[in-house]
Amino acid sequence: MTARDRCTSCNAPLAEAGSTWFSCPVCAHEINRCYRCREQSIPYTCPKCGFQGP
Ligand SMILES: [Zn+2]
Ligand SMILES: [Zn+2]
Repeated sequence: MTARDRCTSCNAPLAEAGSTWFSCPVCAHEINRCYRCREQSIPYTCPKCGFQGP
């Protein structure tokens, strides 16, 4: 884990356990989600291509 990892949805640093990341289904850009956003199913927007998903 690196210090620049931030949640794509709320921009919080991903320091907490339970955070996750995956590739954007459209452009494969890395999407990061913190534990809180994952638990609450906060929508994300890909910063690269603008794709929105759950
Ligand atoms: Zn978040
Ligand atoms: Zn994308």
